[in-house]
Amino acid sequence: MSEPRRSIATVCLSGTVEDKLVAAAAAGFDGVEIFENDLIASAASPAEIGAHCRELGLSVDLYQPFRDFEAVPPARLRENLRRAERKFDVMEQLGTDLVLVCSTVSPEAVDDDELAAEHLRTLAEHAQARGMRVAYEALAWGRFVNTYEHSWRIVRRADHPALGLCLDSFHVLSRDGDPALIRTIPGEKLFYLQLADAPKLDMDVLQWSRHHRLFPGQGSFDLTTFAGNVLEAGYTGPLSLEVFNDVFRQADPKPAAVDAMRSLRLLEEQLGIPVAEPAPELNGYAFAELLADPATATGLADGLAALGFVETGEHRSKAVHRWEQGGARVLINSSASEPDTAEIGALAVESADPLRSARRAEAMSSPILPRERGPQEAGLASVAAPDGTGVFFCDTSAPDGWLSDFRDSATPPEGLITGIDHVSLTQPFDHFDEAALFCRSVLGLEPEEVTEYAAPFGMVRNRGMVDATCSVRIALNGTLVRRGEWAPAVRDPQHIAFTCTDVLAMAERLRASGAPVLPIPDNYYDDLDARFALDPELLASLRRGSVLYDRDAGGEFLHVVTELFGSRVFLELVQRVGDYAGYGVANAPVRMAAHRRQRMAASQPTTPPA
Ligand code: MG
Ligand code: MG
Repeated sequence: MSEPRRSIATVCLSGTVEDKLVAAAAAGFDGVEIFENDLIASAASPAEIGAHCRELGLSVDLYQPFRDFEAVPPARLRENLRRAERKFDVMEQLGTDLVLVCSTVSPEAVDDDELAAEHLRTLAEHAQARGMRVAYEALAWGRFVNTYEHSWRIVRRADHPALGLCLDSFHVLSRDGDPALIRTIPGEKLFYLQLADAPKLDMDVLQWSRHHRLFPGQGSFDLTTFAGNVLEAGYTGPLSLEVFNDVFRQADPKPAAVDAMRSLRLLEEQLGIPVAEPAPELNGYAFAELLADPATATGLADGLAALGFVETGEHRSKAVHRWEQGGARVLINSSASEPDTAEIGALAVESADPLRSARRAEAMSSPILPRERGPQEAGLASVAAPDGTGVFFCDTSAPDGWLSDFRDSATPPEGLITGIDHVSLTQPFDHFDEAALFCRSVLGLEPEEVTEYAAPFGMVRNRGMVDATCSVRIALNGTLVRRGEWAPAVRDPQHIAFTCTDVLAMAERLRASGAPVLPIPDNYYDDLDARFALDPELLASLRRGSVLYDRDAGGEFLHVVTELFGSRVFLELVQRVGDYAGYGVANAPVRMAAHRRQRMAASQPTTPPA
């Protein structure tokens, strides 16, 4: 199967129609659906908008929506035909021949398929006389016609070559419709295909549609089966996105259009269309890089040393030091200038084929970042995640690999820490779904269940992204509403979690050495006792070491976290016992409150004012 044409409805994106067209073209779309309100609000004439589309290399694939046409009294039908003729004038100027007509919600309409078919046939005759066509769409909340099977019965009954169907995945899948019958519709009667995903929500379908549609791959609809059936029926038009979403409506349209394009390419891949080389197998983290100002970098180095890490090398050309223990590698980049800064600047994954990873990233709309590079330095490819974090593809064992960019000073020690278990990134709410889609399409990670919890400063959403062998885990976190300005003390926390073979022994060691472990209050341990009835000795060790504990169907999780370095970064040591699959999210509110206490205490003057 060759690559299909890709289209996007202007309603998906924020801004004026001009902003939307420029963004759609820049993201590589072939065409657009012009949403009527976007056109009406524009100062440009339809002819100018059409010309602008063509200059940008975009075809106008559809004009939409035309509402409440069919099965009405004769006087209303005459008005509706007059209204349609005016819209055909607009379409003529725009340079499109296809209009979307939604099934009626009008109180004037009657429940009469024969009359609806007759009216739509009349409309199709008018359209045909102008060289145009009509795509009839069953809205999920249509008054009488609200399934595609029903809209197809009417279109078949009308039997006019200028009348066909528009299928919209949301309207079918939100009603748990069975897409299997789509395969029985002749391909030439499928005039248009609109794709939208959505999260499973138990709410009014109109509200669900208007606020919560998502790009394919971001929600829980089975779009692969749906779109697969449409293609199998013989549909040859564009794959078009029609997504009404509160976030996308106000987001910068350029990255939103890229996100949209990425979603289509991932869907096409799942449909068996060769749009990108398959994601190479991953084999854990090569490193994580922390970016800090020099003073905070010193604190981080001390913190890593307290955990048993050793500085093993210095970068040949940059202010970057490499710290290691077992298979865990952390780079400390001390080139930030703002005081109190520490953030995860980059993460690097071990790829079975770094060059293929890079080519896949580009095919998935994530261009390789330009990189300053010394003459002897390795050609590391990296892309930017939606939050700006760099993602590198590495083969550490290669003779000319990234390690050769460092002057070695020590060999990595073996200790209780053996590698990186996960990296936790905080996403602004607006980018949460985009970040998950990036991990999925570019890195080939699969999304885990979404968890939401009440934290001291707001509701937080958590979603793990993991590769097939659980060697790379990325924990995405984001507040459900933008984080309040009032006094959160720790904005957008991030952490690197190291795999530790014995967290209790480590906690004991850290306590003895006075390492900056985050103190956890007694209330937490009293509650643990109430919930889990843990062995008293285990409970006492957890309490003594400020170790957090969780349990799921697969096993247990022990974890201990450090105090903050700078304003937002901490380190975590985790031990998965059995097949525990989570991230200890239940303990996050306790940890957040403890970090706030640390920040507030640190901001107090050391000597009380006289
Ligand atoms: Mg639609
Ligand atoms: Mg964690």
